Amino acid sequence: MSDNCIFCKIIRGDFGTEFVYETENTVVFNDINPAAPVHMLVCPKVHVESLNELEDTALMSELLQTVKAVTKKVGLKAYKTQINTGKEAGQEVFHLHIHVLGGWNK
Ligand code: AMP
Ligand code: ZN
Repeated sequence: MSDNCIFCKIIRGDFGTEFVYETENTVVFNDINPAAPVHMLVCPKVHVESLNELEDTALMSELLQTVKAVTKKVGLKAYKTQINTGKEAGQEVFHLHIHVLGGWNK
């Protein structure tokens, strides 16, 4: 938990954000500024700044399993995933997240 991390606050429940899906170590919520009809963010519950800081391979696996489970749950057969790593690559929130975009022809 990082005190000034917006995603840690969301994950802690500070804003009452609805979770689309949750596992022991991961959580999924909708992006506040969606770039597709469905735009979800898959995050580890633990604060990890970016993919570069992710060393836990079990957590890495759980994140991808969560992508599969949540897309199945919401009925997305086709979707794109994106991980922005570093400011120059467009990362704005420094809590690791996988963008999941879809729903064009749902
Ligand atoms: P990135 O540029 O990869 O760091 O992506 C950060 C994403 O977080 C952007 O798509 C934002 O729209 C999204 N975002 C920022 N604040 C919130 C929030 N409070 N709730 C949901 N999504 C957020
Ligand atoms: Zn965080």
